[in-house]
Amino acid sequence: MNRKTIIAYIILILLISQALPFNDNSSAYANSSGIEVAESSINVRSGPGLSYPVITSMKKGDAVDEISRSGDWIEVSISGETGWIASWLTKSSELDSAASSKTAVSSVNRLNVRAQPDLSASVLTQMNAGEQAQIINDANGWAEIEFQGSRGFVSKEYISVNDNTQENPAPASSDVSSIEIAVDALNVRKKADLSSSKQGTVRKGEIYPVIELAGNWVKIQLDDNKTGWVYSFYGHLSNETVETKTDSSVETVTVQTNGTNIRTQASTSSEVAARANAGEQLAVLAQQGDWYQVQLSGGATGFIASWVVATGAQEMKVEKEQAERKKGTLNGLTIVLDPGHGGNDSGTVGARKTQEKGLTLKTAELLAQHLQAAGAEVRMTRQSDVYVDLRKRVAEANNSGADAFISIHYDATEDSTVSGFTSYYMHDYQSELAGYLNAGLGKKLTIRDRGVQPGNYLVLRENRQAAVLVELGFLSNYNEERIISSEQFREQAALGLYQGTINYFDAQLKK
Ligand SMILES: [Zn+2]
Repeated sequence: MNRKTIIAYIILILLISQALPFNDNSSAYANSSGIEVAESSINVRSGPGLSYPVITSMKKGDAVDEISRSGDWIEVSISGETGWIASWLTKSSELDSAASSKTAVSSVNRLNVRAQPDLSASVLTQMNAGEQAQIINDANGWAEIEFQGSRGFVSKEYISVNDNTQENPAPASSDVSSIEIAVDALNVRKKADLSSSKQGTVRKGEIYPVIELAGNWVKIQLDDNKTGWVYSFYGHLSNETVETKTDSSVETVTVQTNGTNIRTQASTSSEVAARANAGEQLAVLAQQGDWYQVQLSGGATGFIASWVVATGAQEMKVEKEQAERKKGTLNGLTIVLDPGHGGNDSGTVGARKTQEKGLTLKTAELLAQHLQAAGAEVRMTRQSDVYVDLRKRVAEANNSGADAFISIHYDATEDSTVSGFTSYYMHDYQSELAGYLNAGLGKKLTIRDRGVQPGNYLVLRENRQAAVLVELGFLSNYNEERIISSEQFREQAALGLYQGTINYFDAQLKK
């Protein structure tokens, strides 16, 4: 991180803190999908409500990127500043005008229709298999629908989309005709580039027709007749034609939180028969209203509320993390690596002309190999010398529900005698990871250990995950530059970070 970058961050932080009070009530849902103004003119306010002052306005057709949501309000970025607009005055800019002609058909019974596109949002009503709803909007793996007079969101995993206005896509021209997604959640992008905007998310086990191949990228046909690009590394390519997956009714459910009540009757007023913990899977014997009758150990049965469990593919992540991960492995964990700077932003430049952006990428690549070998799903915020917006880097962590986010930098300062590595965190929930990573580095590196320190960096501040920014020595120090720009140093740094990561997650298992 060089001085210019730090100054730019400070200015950005000041702008944001002036524009809006920090709001901890904002919804957990966030993405970077495009929003378009649907009314002739709308106000942009400093906070999520009509009582907040107007800071600017937008005209019909203006497009902005969504940063986060709070209730019916959308946080957007407009010419470098952030503000809030009312969601009911906008539409998704990634949808064509034919969107309103699309209908969602539920593939399962008791499909929850939720108030927000988020698994933790309240359930408004439910759809049964075969029932239809009008699709209003498309949001990141969720469809906003109108069903029997209610507006809400359903997971696109459990619906099929009917659209009579579009023809079937042309068949694939190559030998490869389908891809099976191999990771829990994979972003689909508009172009074959990690910095390109997100079209949606596909999930483990889903199979999509392949339209085109370009380098390590695959253009796929999505369910709703949209196309997008995914990174081929995260899927299995095949020359088999796509079979449509048919969902059967729920066979097992997975408990979401520790101490969940299992009752003797299908009612919250009935006696508690047993308690279950997060990750436990229960076999479903029958459904009764909003309740599942489940099999308990020892032959007993009980009832568990449908709104406290996950069904189908939603189980996978919890299941993998809780059951499969053994000490010393990273199975089921998603780790986002963030090689600092890139493209026009070269980061700091050393006295010997070493560019920070090149070192950060090489170090992240080495670390990625170690983490993947231990079973982790690794996502890189960039894989080449390209500029990636800081908020997009954070969105990669937040959207994938990453278990850790590691931002890699090399340091610089005016005083050329300053030396050593530092591990920064911002929120309390990030400090433990910082401690483990710094300790890991300390065991491998011979340069000075400057310790764990709090640092107000955007990639940490806006990160809802355990996130750390490491500065691996000073390029502004002539002697240190020579050491830290070597391949041997990078390998030691990657090993230190890897061991720190393993130790951190091993410690979580014991809790
Ligand atoms: Zn940097």
